[in-house]
Amino acid sequence: MNFTLGLLLVILGLILGSFMAAAIFRLRSKTGGLLTGRSFCANCKNTLQPIDLIPVVSFLLLRGKCRYCGKPIPRSCLWIEIITALVFLSVGYFTGVGNIWLLIWQLLFSSVLIFLAAYDSLYGEIPDEVSLPAIAVALLGSFFSFTPSFISALLGFLLGALPFFAIFFFSQGKWMGGGDSRLGGLLGILLGWQQLLIAIFLAASCGSIVGLLLIAQNKKQLTSKIPFGPYLAVGGFFTMLFGNLLWNWYASNFLF
Ligand SMILES: [Zn+2]
Repeated sequence: MNFTLGLLLVILGLILGSFMAAAIFRLRSKTGGLLTGRSFCANCKNTLQPIDLIPVVSFLLLRGKCRYCGKPIPRSCLWIEIITALVFLSVGYFTGVGNIWLLIWQLLFSSVLIFLAAYDSLYGEIPDEVSLPAIAVALLGSFFSFTPSFISALLGFLLGALPFFAIFFFSQGKWMGGGDSRLGGLLGILLGWQQLLIAIFLAASCGSIVGLLLIAQNKKQLTSKIPFGPYLAVGGFFTMLFGNLLWNWYASNFLF
């Protein structure tokens, strides 16, 4: 990856991240079109000017406060911008531009994963308005060999959706929200059933480590509900980039 492409991906990531942060807020508060509405301050309702909407830069210039009412701008906006930029940079680095459609495909679904993970960590919910269309697009993509194969994608969908749906159903939503099954299904389509297992393994490992750390610091109790969506998204993202490597390593060390 050359410097220009890297810079381009960082800028694209920052801009898209800032759009997604705004869209997350609009979807939650049901204000304005998801992509078309003008951004305004959640506190004083003043419409923001273009100068206030430059990713990261505006945040630093305004020292993290609204220009009009001085109320702090949510830190999550800044994080979503930075994480999207870093994710785009790593997709560009590891996938490369050899297959431009694969690059675009991975950037698209990395964005979807960031959106769903951010929404879930902020509000403890995975919105169907985004996950269901993403599932439809991912299924279409499986005909164009972005995903392993249509059959593997279909099996992946069932394997990803059913267990989480069962947990949701039998705990009556106490342990897990219904949205996790849609996210699991989406990952299953994107990765195929073999690599979905890697993604769930990574997600569960990450989730347990962070969960234990939080319990050790007395920030959470064993019974409290921890959103699993962000971990699934992280596991899915790493598997999307390194799934083949991980699967080969696992197969050569433990299977054959
Ligand atoms: Zn304000």
